[in-house]
Amino acid sequence: MAVKGTDLAKKLPESGKKNCKECGFPTCFAFAMKLASGAATLDKCPHLAPEVAEELEDLLAPAQKLISIGSGDRALQVGNEEVVYRHEKTYYHQPGVAILIADTEDEATVDEKIRKLNELSFDVVGLILKPDLVALQFASGDKARYESLVKRAVGKTDAGIILISEDLDALFSARDIVGVGRKPLLYPITKDNIDAAIPGIKENPTPVALRADSVEGLIPLASRFREEKLDDLVLDAGSKTVLDGIRDQTFMRRAAVKQSFRPLGYPTIVFPCFAAAGDRVKEILMASTFIIKFASIIVLSDFDESSLLPLLVERLNIYTDPRMPLSVEEKLYEVGEPGADSPVLITTNWALTYFIVSAEIEGSKVPSWLLVKDSEGLGVLTAWAAGKFNGDAIGPFLKASGVEDKTKTRTLVIPGKVSRIKGELEDALPGWKIVVGPRESSEIPGWLPGFAASLKN
Ligand code: SF4
Repeated sequence: MAVKGTDLAKKLPESGKKNCKECGFPTCFAFAMKLASGAATLDKCPHLAPEVAEELEDLLAPAQKLISIGSGDRALQVGNEEVVYRHEKTYYHQPGVAILIADTEDEATVDEKIRKLNELSFDVVGLILKPDLVALQFASGDKARYESLVKRAVGKTDAGIILISEDLDALFSARDIVGVGRKPLLYPITKDNIDAAIPGIKENPTPVALRADSVEGLIPLASRFREEKLDDLVLDAGSKTVLDGIRDQTFMRRAAVKQSFRPLGYPTIVFPCFAAAGDRVKEILMASTFIIKFASIIVLSDFDESSLLPLLVERLNIYTDPRMPLSVEEKLYEVGEPGADSPVLITTNWALTYFIVSAEIEGSKVPSWLLVKDSEGLGVLTAWAAGKFNGDAIGPFLKASGVEDKTKTRTLVIPGKVSRIKGELEDALPGWKIVVGPRESSEIPGWLPGFAASLKN
């Protein structure tokens, strides 16, 4: 629940009436409004008492905290969600998918799971989809064996690591092997080990996952950590079934974003790997459910291409901003290996348009240059109607694209549906001939070879 500027103003000096302008705003009220919208920061007001600054900081904190696990390019960020339902705005940080490795598994299995974590990736509409994390479980009872697994994993992957151990000594020892710089997630901290755990976590802070047997049980654990000023937290309500999981995840998300209930304002973790009890189909279905229903980290016992791809595509769909169509980068693309005599075509950057047009060009077997103009993800006709695909927009883009250094034909093919921009493009691109191409991309394979031949005559 977003804090209101009017509520913030009352907490500013002299109940928001000081109006000294030192923050750069004409009044305290104007400053408060900017604070509420995220366009100003508290440090701009030099007159805030420390306890008021702390209270305001708490009010301004996101409803759900953003947590980072791992480091470098493969660091995973989860949380910071602002809504319950995606259509209310958007979801921001897609859930991490983790593969579980127990220290009871043999070396070949361990290596194969790490290989899958490192190598499985899918190119979907120009985006690379990959799994995110490895969860290393202390299951053998042999601390040295667990440490050996952790060392093996650390050396073979740069993915984020979840350390799972009921034995605190083994958990901290594994954390030290990974190193706090890699920000491993420690799991589980429970009501039974919290007192013993807090000093060790304070000593070398890294994110921790709290586990209780209910949502209510998480509240005192999270509150205790907050009192200790340790709040890189992830929550596990201990849900045992899909229905319980949906209920718990929904409750926690609503409490965080609708009620601003701070102890539940953290990302969550779920374990289909344990809850499905060996039923692989059930496990994947549970994971699929939790991608939709608010989980931030999902731990699987294993995956392969056929089980992982649908989950990652589902995740992509759910975490794509519904206000922004999927788009590709504005630039000059090569289809095949085009040369100086190859055709130059142009289209918009809606991902679907780009992939259909480039596939049809590929199907024509004519190496071509394809200019893709940023149209904020709109298709050709809509982009034209919105003034994003016309002479004024295309002319400067074509000049800046570098296509003139790569071709000598000076002939640009525009989509048949926007034949009406031919004249304005001729004005915007002196020296270029504008050719109206097919109306439908499906006609490209039949049309392009003849057109390409005509360029060479
Ligand atoms: Fe008000 Fe502080 Fe800005 Fe002065 S600096 S106008 S007291 S918010």
